[in-house]
Amino acid sequence: MSSIKENVRCILNELPPTVYLVAAAKTRMPIEIEEAIDAGVRIIGENYVQEAEEAHLAIGNLAQWHFIGHLQTNKVKKAVEIFDMIETVDSLELACEIDKRCKQIGKVMSVLIEVNSGCESQKSGVLPEAVASLAEAISALSNVRLMGLMTMGPQVGGPEDSRPYFVATRRVFEEIVLLHLPNVEMKYLSMGMTNSYRVALEEGANMVRIGTLIFGERD
Ligand SMILES: *Cc1c(COP(=O)(O)O)cnc(C)c1O
Repeated sequence: MSSIKENVRCILNELPPTVYLVAAAKTRMPIEIEEAIDAGVRIIGENYVQEAEEAHLAIGNLAQWHFIGHLQTNKVKKAVEIFDMIETVDSLELACEIDKRCKQIGKVMSVLIEVNSGCESQKSGVLPEAVASLAEAISALSNVRLMGLMTMGPQVGGPEDSRPYFVATRRVFEEIVLLHLPNVEMKYLSMGMTNSYRVALEEGANMVRIGTLIFGERD
């Protein structure tokens, strides 16, 4: 079995220098996360605020912290203290809560809108046709800065099955760019995981979120 260090080096070698690697660290121990950071990981992705709090306490600002899970409004106060970016904003209500909590601590939070690119019911994320109006609304919030889009896509089939959803998300991304919204900087397109990141890169992702390929299978 290869080590976390070897896995990270291998991935960083493969990724073009313009692509950001987010190490998706759910269920991993701080010691594993530290090994990834030692090997060159600069961004840690966390799905759960409480888990992130413990890891953040142990590791601090050796890396940037991205929230990539589903964020409940009652966790926002804690989340804005820990995270440098929230990749999963999917409602104006959530964006407003982030704005309010960031005002209280004098912070401007970078966010991505999560796109429900598979238009799946019961899934988090905003439907592709609703992204523009949410982006416009977020544009008016002074302590939230929209910096791009994130998507998962349906988690079925092989990597090729993800391609249409990455293409659809890229299309929405370009649409938002053309709106030239104030206080919005469309810089990041976060798509692709362990089994789909190569397809995502082909479709324009410049941020990939990889867990299993770095840390091994989750228990
Ligand atoms: C777990 C997770 C990943 C990484 O998944 P792997 O298949 O382990 O690479 C990426 N993005 C999100 C939102 C995740 O929850």
